[in-house]
Amino acid sequence: MAIPRLRHAVRTLFEVPAALRPLSRACSTFHAFTDVLRLPKRQMTKLVFPLRELERQLTPDSRLDLHVKIFDPSLEDISKAEAVFTATSRNRISYLSSAVRLDHAPDLPSPEVCFIGRSNVGKSSLIKALFSLAPEVEVRVSKKPGHTKKMNFFKVGKYFTLVDMPGYGYRAPEDFVDMVETYLKERRNLMRTFLLVDSVVGIQKTDSIAIEMCEEFALPYVMVLTKIDKSSKGHLLKQVLQIQKFVDRETQGCFPQLFPVSSVTYSGIHLLRCFIANITGNLD
Ligand code: GDP
Repeated sequence: MAIPRLRHAVRTLFEVPAALRPLSRACSTFHAFTDVLRLPKRQMTKLVFPLRELERQLTPDSRLDLHVKIFDPSLEDISKAEAVFTATSRNRISYLSSAVRLDHAPDLPSPEVCFIGRSNVGKSSLIKALFSLAPEVEVRVSKKPGHTKKMNFFKVGKYFTLVDMPGYGYRAPEDFVDMVETYLKERRNLMRTFLLVDSVVGIQKTDSIAIEMCEEFALPYVMVLTKIDKSSKGHLLKQVLQIQKFVDRETQGCFPQLFPVSSVTYSGIHLLRCFIANITGNLD
């Protein structure tokens, strides 16, 4: 009698809970844009342009508050951009090296983009989602307290370099702040900084420090709102409007359009790939 009970317990342990099933399916299906294009129009729009979906909930006169069409590529452009992120024998996408100091960073002529954010904001998950069409790429994570935090460089073919900056937070040592600051201030080929904010909790004190840094160095940066699958529509809309208001009123260098994303459902990921391909000059 004990064995069937044990078997049942093991089966239960490994069963995907019903609430997560659609997400697991979404996860395995929507890496590639060709799969997204097969969706019914409304569902496709929701997945590709999550900000437009949020905008639908607003009254017509407050719709202008969300600048949804500043970056408004065609589906064709989004498809084109996908080639940049797809690993092939002619487009090698790989981890390149890590560095703790700027003078140890690889000296590459290609344009660079970097991703910064608080620890736990969803940065590694987002980078993994962006690189899901290059499954060989290993997004390294060093989260153990006390481990040296590094800048990780990824080469995306001949197109650009993506830099995963160490997560900041209350445990960030001073030399880490120095490292990020020096990189942001001095990296010559840095085209755009992607500053990640957790959409569930909005802009936190530590996020403000990073925002101030970008503003002080007059960097062009973009706010990416992570984990949008976690909140109810109402909560998400409230947070997005609040962050948008902040960007409009308090920032100079931030791109006015927000990029909400989910690394679980892939919502917003294809649009972000397209934006990166565009600003690195690879969409012509
Ligand atoms: P990092 O410290 O910024 O690199 O954050 P991680 O990518 O490791 O994510 C921190 C936690 O948030 C992990 O438990 C992830 O599974 C979770 N997470 C990250 N992105 C998402 C997302 O888009 N949706 C949900 N629901 N969880 C996420």
